[in-house]
Amino acid sequence: MNRDRLKKLVEEKRFIPGIYNYCDRWCERCPQTSRCLNFSISEEEFSDPEAQDIRNEAFWNKLSGIFEEALELLKEAAQKWEIDLETLSSMDDIEKMKEKNKDADNHLLCRAAKSYGKMVKDWFREREGLLLETTVVAKEGVDLEEAFEVIQWYQYFIGAKVTRAIRGKMEEEEEGADEYPSDSDGSAKVALIAIDRSISAWAVISHYNHHDAESVFKMISFLDRLSQAVEETFPHARSFIRPGFDRIDP
Ligand code: SF4
Repeated sequence: MNRDRLKKLVEEKRFIPGIYNYCDRWCERCPQTSRCLNFSISEEEFSDPEAQDIRNEAFWNKLSGIFEEALELLKEAAQKWEIDLETLSSMDDIEKMKEKNKDADNHLLCRAAKSYGKMVKDWFREREGLLLETTVVAKEGVDLEEAFEVIQWYQYFIGAKVTRAIRGKMEEEEEGADEYPSDSDGSAKVALIAIDRSISAWAVISHYNHHDAESVFKMISFLDRLSQAVEETFPHARSFIRPGFDRIDP
């Protein structure tokens, strides 16, 4: 995509600013694809199957082309607003950023959220045959397959969003920002939604698969405690209004 096309696309009024910051990245199921700039760029750039394959050179060429054009646009904007990009990130800042990322990764909440991803991986690996059997036996197998899909979609997403929320909260506290609701609340809200949906999906599995009731119950109670911990750390998260997805109550 050339810069002019990218510029034109960015200026289109139909896009909701920042909608992709608080979504679950499940574009196939998203009701707002026509209002998402991210989606439109991917559609235009990656419509060719070759360019969708991560193992294919065409994919990386496309991606690097988009980054280059986006960087040029950023430089143009910086020039317009008289911002010197060179002085924004010194080596010192980069080191500080790395430290902050490390602190966030080590945060108890982040470690717990990430460990859920591994728990799910192990759970599925240990039950490959059994799950296939259960899907065949279950008459309303669609629900069960749907439940597997939901759990696996959010398995790592929860850890990533909780980490983003914690990282954001650390920064907000450091900068003394008291903006309400904050960006970290938005990330925490998306994590909470993913946890809620995962709990419902585990409940569907427990309905069909009685052999694994205990392990499924463990997953649900782990997620439930994680959800409580996220809510305690981010008490305003549930009331965060995600652009394009939540409504403001009159
Ligand atoms: S807002 Fe919807 S279309 Fe855009 S990136 Fe998120 S899930 Fe995909």
